Amino acid sequence: MGPVLGGLEKYTPLIKADPLPAASALGRGVRITYLGTNAYLLETRDTVILIDPYFSRQSLLRTALKLEPVGETNLVAQWLRDHRKIDAILVTHGHIDHLFDVPQIARATGATIIASATSVKLVESVGISAKQTRVVRPGSRIAIKNAVIHVFSAEHDRIFGVVPFNTPPKHLPPRKISDWVTGEPLAFLIEMGGKRIFINSGGRADKPVSLHSAPVDLAIVGVASGDAIGAFSQTIAQLHPRYILPSHQDDFFRPLRRGFVFLPLTNFPKVQRAAAENRGQLILLDYFRPWTLR
Ligand SMILES: [Zn+2]
Repeated sequence: MGPVLGGLEKYTPLIKADPLPAASALGRGVRITYLGTNAYLLETRDTVILIDPYFSRQSLLRTALKLEPVGETNLVAQWLRDHRKIDAILVTHGHIDHLFDVPQIARATGATIIASATSVKLVESVGISAKQTRVVRPGSRIAIKNAVIHVFSAEHDRIFGVVPFNTPPKHLPPRKISDWVTGEPLAFLIEMGGKRIFINSGGRADKPVSLHSAPVDLAIVGVASGDAIGAFSQTIAQLHPRYILPSHQDDFFRPLRRGFVFLPLTNFPKVQRAAAENRGQLILLDYFRPWTLR
């Protein structure tokens, strides 16, 4: 898939990307590729970490009606052709847009799945072996090749006042979109390639979390909802990031091939104002266009 810029044009000055075609060379630092929603591929010469991969996008209607999900297994397989080597997959929580494609990718690559107890239960129920999973909780610290991953507790934002799909799954293995439940939300600090990268998928201003991990080189912070945007400023104020990357702000109910479009609920000017109150450079990444953090 080539670069796509739909919806991001007016923020072009904020977009970071490696010059093409030199992007293929892995050098110093960490190469970061945005795959949409809250999904990122982090690569150094020796270690590859994938976070919250999500290709099988479900429409808003299917999601609202809690239908059975439709897997985009061909799209995942197509991406996997160029990404055979993945050491670990980190999962922030169990919702479909963070976990659903993880089993297919884990089977194809042998990557270790690092996730909460609930998310691990979901993937093991669809046949992933316990040998390939690691249950983590806030305070866990895990070494994956030359990367160290620190786990923090997180909060899931409310959509129209409630955390969606936040009860135990009604069916295991999951049948409906709503069976992919939140579980215990997590945030991660990843130390690799001499850099410190923080990621969460959102939060709540009324339930601040303590991170104690400043300074970081890059803070990837979810802004999918008003709740999450409220927590965004608190999060970056704690992290003192060099770069601030708002995440989960694209319309993940539309197929990936249709390009980047902001979520209707994402108030990007508000995100910009919150970032401006803090130190750190606000940046954006476009789909599938790598940028090397140095
Ligand atoms: Zn979620």
